Parts: sequence; C-alpha cells; structure tokens
Amino acid sequence: MELQYIKGIGPKRLKLLNRLGVFSDTDLLNYFPRRYEDRSQIVPLAFLTDGQTATVKVFVKDVREQTPKKGMTVLKAYVGDESGNGTAVWFNQPFLKKQILPGSQMLLTGKAQCRFGQREIVAADYQAANDPDELLEGARIIPVYPLTEGLSQRFFREVIRQLLSRPRDKEEDLYPEEFRERYGLIPRAEAARSIHFPEDEDSFHKARKRLVFDELFLVQLALIISRNQMKREDGGVAHTRNGDLVPRWLEALPFALTAAQRRVMEEVRRDMESLSSMQRLVQGDVGSGKTAVAAFALLKAVENGCQSALMAPTEILARQHFETLFKWFAPLGVRIGLLTGALSSGGKKAEMESVSSGETQVVVGTHALFQENIRFRHLTLLVIDEQHRFGVKQRALMEEKGFTADVLVMSATPIPRTLALTLYGDLDISSLDELPPGRKPVETFCVLERARGKLQRFIGECLGKGRQVYVVCPLIEESETLDLKNAKEVRESYARIFSGYSVGLLHGRMKPAEKAEVMEGFVQGRIHVLVTTTVIEVGVNVPQATVMVVESAERFGLAQLHQLRGRVGRGEDQSHCILVTETKNPVALKRMKLMTQTNDGFKLAEEDMVLRGPGEFFGSRQHGLPDFKLAKMPEDAPLLESARQAAVQLLEEDPLLRSAEHRRIGREVGSLMDAMVTI
Ligand code: ADP
Ligand code: MG
Repeated sequence: MELQYIKGIGPKRLKLLNRLGVFSDTDLLNYFPRRYEDRSQIVPLAFLTDGQTATVKVFVKDVREQTPKKGMTVLKAYVGDESGNGTAVWFNQPFLKKQILPGSQMLLTGKAQCRFGQREIVAADYQAANDPDELLEGARIIPVYPLTEGLSQRFFREVIRQLLSRPRDKEEDLYPEEFRERYGLIPRAEAARSIHFPEDEDSFHKARKRLVFDELFLVQLALIISRNQMKREDGGVAHTRNGDLVPRWLEALPFALTAAQRRVMEEVRRDMESLSSMQRLVQGDVGSGKTAVAAFALLKAVENGCQSALMAPTEILARQHFETLFKWFAPLGVRIGLLTGALSSGGKKAEMESVSSGETQVVVGTHALFQENIRFRHLTLLVIDEQHRFGVKQRALMEEKGFTADVLVMSATPIPRTLALTLYGDLDISSLDELPPGRKPVETFCVLERARGKLQRFIGECLGKGRQVYVVCPLIEESETLDLKNAKEVRESYARIFSGYSVGLLHGRMKPAEKAEVMEGFVQGRIHVLVTTTVIEVGVNVPQATVMVVESAERFGLAQLHQLRGRVGRGEDQSHCILVTETKNPVALKRMKLMTQTNDGFKLAEEDMVLRGPGEFFGSRQHGLPDFKLAKMPEDAPLLESARQAAVQLLEEDPLLRSAEHRRIGREVGSLMDAMVTI
C-alpha cells in the first residue's frame, strides 16, 4: 500500500517520512522503536513517589491555562482517581487545550513531582478516551520512536498500529514452518506486531530474535552466493608454474620470513595454483609484514607469464610500495610501473601504454587505477592494500572490465572475529598473527597539556640521537580549512621550539608532487619532524622514525590511534607513542588508558566496539554492506553464527533457491544483492 493512502499521512508528513528513509509501508513497519515505555502498570495517584515516571488513570476535573511569562504557556489539569487528587502540567503546548477536556478519562504518563503533599505529573503524555476499555488498551508497553521535527510519537504509534491491524491477505512467511522451528523463530507477522507493541518482555525478545535473524541470514546468503559466483570453478587462472623468481627474491631478502608469513604465503600459493579464483583477505596487525606477502603473490603471477597489480588507498602509500617493490624486483629483471595522479598526463599515457603492451609486468597504483581507461595485457592478480573491504560493488566494477581472476585484500584493521564473519562472509581469511622478531613493543604515554615542557625535552633528546618524529594533528570534520590552519600552526610552533631541526608539513590538500617530495625528505632523513594529518594513518613505513606524537588525541578513535601508533616501532630501536590531550570526557580517557595498556590491535578493536558500537568503529569506511537496523555486535554474535549455519545449509540443499518454498527467500536475497551492488 502506498503511504499517502494511510490515514494521517498527508503530503507534508509524507515528505518528512521520506527524509527518514521511509518510502513504503514495509519501510514504516521496519521503522523500529528506539526504546519502550512500560505503561502496563497503572499507579494510583496516591502511590506516586517523587521522581518516578509512571502512568496513571485519571478523571479530568478542570483545565486551566496560565501565562506566567510572555511567550510561555502552562496548561494545568486538575485530575483525580479513586485514591486521590493531583495535577498534570504541559509547558508551551497551548493546542492541547482542545484535547485535554474536563470530564474525560485519560491515561497520563510522565514524571511525578511530589512535594508538600501535592502530586504533579510533568510533561505528561496523554491518551484520552470515552470508553474505559479503549483506555486499557493504552495501558501496555508503548514504543518510543526516533523522531524528526514535525512527526510525533503519537503519529508513529497511530500509523503503525493502523498498518498492523490491516487485514493481511494470507501472506506467507519468508520461511517454511519446518525451517522456523529448526531455528526457533516465531512467524514474521507476529514478530512485526510484537516489535512495535510487545505484550511483555518475552514477546519482545522473541520478535527481536526473529527480525535480527532475518537481517543476518539474508546478508549471509547474499555474501555466500556472491562468493560462489566469484569462485566459479573456472573463474581464475591456475598459476601452476614455479619458476626461479620467487626463490631468487627470497634469497635476496634481508630478513627471514616469520612462520606466519610462510603459512599465509602457502595459503595464497594454493589459491593461486587452483583454477578457481582467489578471494582472500590477509589480516595482520600493523607491522606484521603484509607487503612481503603481497610481493610474493605479485611475483608468482609474473612467474606465470601474467601481469599483476597492487592498489593502495593513498598516493603516498602507492609510491612507498613502488619503491619497496622496485628495490626487490628490479634486480630480478621484473618491470614494475607506478600509476598515480601525480604523474603528468604524458607520463601517465606512457605508463598506461606500457601496461597495455605487457611490458610493465607489475603495476602499482591508487584506487583510481580501475577508474581510468586502463587496459591490461594479461592481468590475473590484483592485490588491494589497506582496505578492509573489497566490496561486491568493486567486484562488479572489475567484472565489467572483464577481470575475474585472483584477488588478495590486505587489511591491518583488526576486525573482531564476530564481525569478520558479517563483513567478510564472502572472503577466505588468512591471519598474520605474528610480528617479525626483535621488535620492541611501542611504549605509549598519555600526556596532559601542562606537561608539554617535559614532552618537548623528550622530543629534543630523541632528535639529538638522530631519531625522527611524527606529529599528527586531528582532522576537524566540519572544516578542512580549520584542519589545515591547525596543522600549519602546529608546524610553526614545532619549528620554533626545535629550531636546529627541519620540520616538514604534510597534509591531504597538498598537490601529489608536493606530498611525494615531503615524504621523500622524511624517508631520507632530511626532514626530522613531520607534522601531518591522518594522511599518514595507514601503511607508511619509515623505520628510523621512532616517536609518534598525537595532538588532541581524544579526537581519534581507538582503531585510528592504533594505526597511527603502527607508524613507529618498525625498526630495532625502542619507539614511543605520546598521546597529548586535555580531555575530561571519561570515554575518551578510557580510550587513552587502553592505548597505554595494550599493543594488541585485536583487543583494542573489541574494546572500541564495546565503547562506541560497531557502526562508529567502521565509520564511513564501511562500504557495500547494508546497515543493520536491529542487529548489534558483539551481542548478537550467537545469532550471527546460527544465521550463517542456516545460510550454508540452505544453499547446500537448494543452491539457486529455486524450490517453491524458498522462492521468497530467493527474491529477498536478490533485491538485497542488487542494493549491495549499487550502494
Ligand atoms: P604492514 O603489515 O604494516 O604492511 P610492512 O609490510 O610495511 O608491514 O612491514 C613492516 C616492516 O617490517 C618493514 O620494514 C619490513 O621490511 C619489515 N619486515 C617484514 N617482514 C619481516 C621479517 N620477517 N623480519 C624482519 N622484518 C620484516
Ligand atoms: Mg602495509
């Protein structure tokens, strides 16, 4: 049914609903309450206690309006029940005069103030009725919806109740009965009713369980199906040839691989040698040596006469990867190219030609790589660095370009196990769960503004020993200009204090060539202190930099602080991370404290999720997956587990969801997958 045909929804409200993302009656039913108010217990007036939020059932004796100040109205109702008398007040809602009528019965809900023997209910919600039975209907658990201006609780309760009481044309459930029973789920229609107007706590929990299961189950199905599509038996290239490039590279490496690196390379090797395409995520904490794993895969493709590509999220990182790989690959005679926005158009054209002719064997670039009109000669492996999600969307984009071979995604963002399943249900996961030997854990301190003198002495000492220092300034989201001013000011103050040293500035708004030059200066040790924004958050590797100062550290999330800290501690020397803050916010302080207590990215991620919720944790970086309306991690992890199993089992029984009893599921998953592609 279209929304405008529902009683109470005119053009104006329709617009407001649209703004909330509500376009259909289904959307409206899926507009879930934020919380509930228990009005099932009616309290006699005489029993009210001061400060209590309660519901009373009263008779209205009289109503008066007062205007104690200009522009202010107080509506006062004198009410009573069998137990006694009291008043109810509403502030600045003069229109209520027409609804709160002397002689009527009402349910009032609000906060009680009991002083000097007087009982008053403040800012009360009300429900009037002529018929006492109708009143009792309101004495129940009541939903409280998230609101927007112009739409009231009363409105939502009313229209949703209307929708729920609509006679339904014997709508089938999404699942066959046997399936519901197996997973302990109530019928969908019952769940829809109870999530809005639960009879009691138990019926709420059952409803929520059913709806959360639906959310998780459909996404799991979509992920598994899209993965099966990508993994079509003949979807990849079997890189079975083992030449001498990989052994020669390993021979020349200045370090021995960690056991974890060897294990993960083995997993990658197996994927690459099989004919079905690789869809693998390598997860490893900052500094665990993911680049070497990438290099292995890139070389293996070349060894098989193919081209391979490495995509990085920033120019700086792409350039750094290029330099590392160039050092490793050039002596082997492997031709490697760099494609970023920093190239002149002529340079870019030449590089692209060299890629399409096949002369360039390994190409490193930013994510723009695939947006460009680039043509590969024979690309069979794509490595994507520092992204925790290579979404269905990007895959579709690549398929459009006719590329369906092996994909290796690398991420340092530690994803708690539970979430990994939701986010990467479509990827195989490898873990680099070991740091190279000899690393000293970074020591982390939290420093208050008033101890800045001490901090400066410490930085001075480090510089004196020939170490280098990062200073990261926060990003102020509302204003990029402010950010810049901030970073520039910080640079100036550092330059004044450490006048004997060279202090550089690096931020996102600089031209690519300028960025590259500053970064180069820092890598080569010409710049001693690098004042920067979060542009260096991921991936950057300058082992002789041992101090990371984070200014206004309270503005960063845990995951981000951990990433920043990962820029130091990459060499043999003891490194330090110093969080400067003045905050008194207890949650922010808790984050700082956690940082000083642990270097374990996984542990921090779990904590971050608890402190801020998963949505916040991923922030705007989570792409390609629908937001969950009800499901919450980690609380719903057990349900996720069971939804996942249900999805796997269902697809085993009916891979294409073609049987009559699964057709509805198939339809829902289909539209979900469409949405995932177009997000
Ligand atoms: P990340 O996983 O954060 O991308 P990198 O690949 O940048 O880490 O590696 C971090 C540093 O550790 C680099 O300087 C790299 O050369 C070095 N490294 C990588 N693997 C090893 C190893 N097995 N032994 C010693 N150093 C290593
Ligand atoms: Mg890296």
